[in-house]
Amino acid sequence: MDLATLPLCIQDEPHYRARQIKLGVFVDLAEDWNDLTALPKKLREKLQKNCSLRISAELFPDKNVGAVKALIRLADGKRIETVLMRRRDGRNTVCVSCQVGCPMGCTFCATGKMKLLRSLQPYEIVEQVVLFARYLKTECARVSNVVFMGMGEPFANYDNVLEAVRVLNDHDGLNIGARHISLSTCGILKGIQRLAKEPLQVNLALSLHAPDDATRRMIMPVSRSYTITALLAGVDAYTQATHRKVMFEYLLLGGVNDTDTHARALAKLLTGRLCMVNLIAYNATGMYASATKERMHYFSNVLQKAGIEATIRYRHGREVRGACGQLATSNEDFMLPSDVVASADAPV
Ligand code: SF4
Repeated sequence: MDLATLPLCIQDEPHYRARQIKLGVFVDLAEDWNDLTALPKKLREKLQKNCSLRISAELFPDKNVGAVKALIRLADGKRIETVLMRRRDGRNTVCVSCQVGCPMGCTFCATGKMKLLRSLQPYEIVEQVVLFARYLKTECARVSNVVFMGMGEPFANYDNVLEAVRVLNDHDGLNIGARHISLSTCGILKGIQRLAKEPLQVNLALSLHAPDDATRRMIMPVSRSYTITALLAGVDAYTQATHRKVMFEYLLLGGVNDTDTHARALAKLLTGRLCMVNLIAYNATGMYASATKERMHYFSNVLQKAGIEATIRYRHGREVRGACGQLATSNEDFMLPSDVVASADAPV
């Protein structure tokens, strides 16, 4: 799908044409401009030539958990991954990528190992949702939620991500409610500060993964730029400005950040804040061991006793390497070792 030159192609058209096209591409989910017969033939030919609606993708369903991973080939041949997570309550959440690779280098993350190849354009982010909207249309279902938790750091591609969010949220288009869209950052303070000023009710998730700077620096290079104290000050300012609850994500790595001391320190750090904690089991990508289920439940109990809402997410997409921290455009060897502790999926 390539909508980069769409504004140019319709610049001489009457103003209602843009809305007609939005309805055709994002509501009717046309895969060929010739299907949009309300458009003049000449315009359809022009769009057919310059703005392909074709999405080049391979799908890898995981029948066990109802997740589907898609490997999308972009116009320049680079590949990104996106995952559809189907929930028992009927929600259909798409986990999108915003960059090819990622510059942040979190040590537990498969994408981080790729480094940054390039950032995605807004339409390249939106096409990931369109792909699954088309997929679900065959079952008369729709995409209900979008989480920016795939490849890349949303605040390292801020303007394009926010433009994509506006398109996803557009009432004349995919019409995905802002409250059903979540942006997850590894902790770019400037991005949190900018988001606090946006007139959008999107959700903010912050990957904390450690309650102290020393542990966090070991696993997340970004923490050399921002201390936890500075980040939490930014989060407090965000909640004051938006009155919105922040999701803290905490990936438990066996023997690294999963001790009793870490659990108590985490509870102390977050007590009194408008937040919840999503405890995530590590999906083995080579470097660390998974934390045990006992550790996951211990953390959950400590947090809940401190009055902090905590969830342990059930696995989604593990077998297709589409779970958190595992998106890295590998198109081979999708099966993980069976002894990996159940992984978690992205919050909504
Ligand atoms: S966890 Fe997120 S921010 Fe960190 S390297 Fe992976 S994709 Fe980038």
